[in-house]
Amino acid sequence: MTIAELDRYIEVLEEKAAELKQMIASGKEVIIPIQNSSDLADQTQFTGMQELEMRTLDSSTTKLHQIEAALQRLRDGTFGVCIDCEENISPKRLKAVPWAPRCVDCQGAADKQPTLSIATA
Ligand SMILES: [Zn+2]
Repeated sequence: MTIAELDRYIEVLEEKAAELKQMIASGKEVIIPIQNSSDLADQTQFTGMQELEMRTLDSSTTKLHQIEAALQRLRDGTFGVCIDCEENISPKRLKAVPWAPRCVDCQGAADKQPTLSIATA
């Protein structure tokens, strides 16, 4: 991979990370006032919405971690290399999912494993 290509990935990943951070920050602003509400009717009405917000927040946080790990690999010079088999990840896959830590084969195998839940609390 050329320096220009790596620079481009840094740009894309940093942009995406900033976007997610903003989304996570605004999501928290939505959740906190609802939790503090003393009105029972309000709480019931907002529970569904809150759950949806929490799920969105959760997946945004996971993705942000993946992006930050990818940026770290860019700095380490291991970006684009599968973390499992150490083969190069195809450029096509990196273009679609720049934060992908694994090649298609290893990701497929990892997806079959029981998911390890990441404690975010
Ligand atoms: Zn692999």
